[in-house]
Amino acid sequence: MTKREQKIHESFREQMDEAELLNCMRCGFCLPSCPTYIETGYDEAHAPRGRIALMKAVHDGLVAPDDDVERSLNLCLGCRACEPVCPAGVNYGHLLEDARDIFNNHKRHSPHVKAVRKTVFNGLFPHQNRMEKAVGLLGFYQRSGLQNVTRKIGFMKLFPKSMQDMEKVLPAVSRKRGRKSESPYPPVTSKTATVAFFSGCLMDTMFKETNEATIKLLQLAGCEVVIPQNQNCCGALHGHSGEKDTAKELAKRNIDAFEDLNADYIISNAGGCGAFLVDYAHLLKDDAEYGEQAKVFTAKITDISQLLYELNFYEKIKLTVPSQTVTYQDSCHLRNVMHTAEAPRELLKAIEGADYREMERADSCCGSAGIYNIVESEMSMQILDHKMEDVVATNAHTIVTANPGCLLQMKLGIEREGLSDKVRAVHIVDLLLEACSDTQVNADKETDEKTEVYQT
Ligand code: SF4
Ligand code: SF4
Repeated sequence: MTKREQKIHESFREQMDEAELLNCMRCGFCLPSCPTYIETGYDEAHAPRGRIALMKAVHDGLVAPDDDVERSLNLCLGCRACEPVCPAGVNYGHLLEDARDIFNNHKRHSPHVKAVRKTVFNGLFPHQNRMEKAVGLLGFYQRSGLQNVTRKIGFMKLFPKSMQDMEKVLPAVSRKRGRKSESPYPPVTSKTATVAFFSGCLMDTMFKETNEATIKLLQLAGCEVVIPQNQNCCGALHGHSGEKDTAKELAKRNIDAFEDLNADYIISNAGGCGAFLVDYAHLLKDDAEYGEQAKVFTAKITDISQLLYELNFYEKIKLTVPSQTVTYQDSCHLRNVMHTAEAPRELLKAIEGADYREMERADSCCGSAGIYNIVESEMSMQILDHKMEDVVATNAHTIVTANPGCLLQMKLGIEREGLSDKVRAVHIVDLLLEACSDTQVNADKETDEKTEVYQT
């Protein structure tokens, strides 16, 4: 072993949860659920069982933590589809997070990569005002005509293909800012609950309209909605990319921001964020100051679909859309970590005019996985192309998702398949708000592209 490998081995011994590694009994029940195992032609090194075996072997000093081990961990989507099917209940996601953190702590990034990581992880995401400025620039780029010019002159061709494709499907950035200061939002019907809304960093900038739709739906469901001003990014991107210390700092700030609100629920509308918020109790389990507070915080985290379903929103409000076929792509983290799969489907089935068709392998990752579709573009597109075969088989006009990354990935899939004239991808709350367009809270709704009609 090289010196660096020896250090990684020592960190594995000190930091990895050996009991969790030993929980894996090598049964292989997880293999069919793993997209990378399937897409690599059943390569055990790219399966959960193989990855756990590699982590254990590095821990025991039997295998050097070389490039092959790191590659195996990097190619994992972190979708956690291997967890619900595991009879031993192995917490694979936590093992992966810890292993990646160790590798990252011993990595010698080039100055360029170091600078990019520092800017993104420390300089941008933890600061909501900077996020707003950055997304504001994107809005300017879209509205000023610059986007049309760069496309015409082929400027985007200077960037990797994955970034070119992503640029095409970015949502139109809303001009609206500063909605948090208007909180609390009163319930429209008789009060059912007080909810605190985790508005997120990307969701509250790039997907502002979806956040506004979320608030309106909650009001319609009888909720008083509070939005703490000093909340920040959930830290998922950091936690999944080997920046665990920053993730912990962000978690503590969020716990402080929500602590004194006495809300019945803390609502998230992004599967990836919700799943990371739910994991705060694990993330801070050894923290003497925040360990207990994290448990209280975690217990309140609920996805918007789950709460709307529990409050019988769909029975109180008439939901109608023009006739169209609708299918649902699970957000991996919403399904595998937050265990919310039935609620969104039931809500969709309650919409009049929406012919719900379940997609084959809807529970399998679409290949978005945070920044995976940028850093592991080839595998991501391979997974997406297979996903689109399943989408096409449903004949759906509307693909519904519950996470911003999945939404962009499905938009990308539609673009790649040349289906943009007949298929759309929407976040579930946008479709639900569209479906209650006759209601009081929606009376002042501005007409925008969300009201497009998708006739069969
Ligand atoms: S299903 Fe669980 S116990 Fe079985 S091999 Fe996979 S991770 Fe290990
Ligand atoms: S997290 Fe997803 S990609 Fe990674 S091992 Fe588990 S099923 Fe496979």
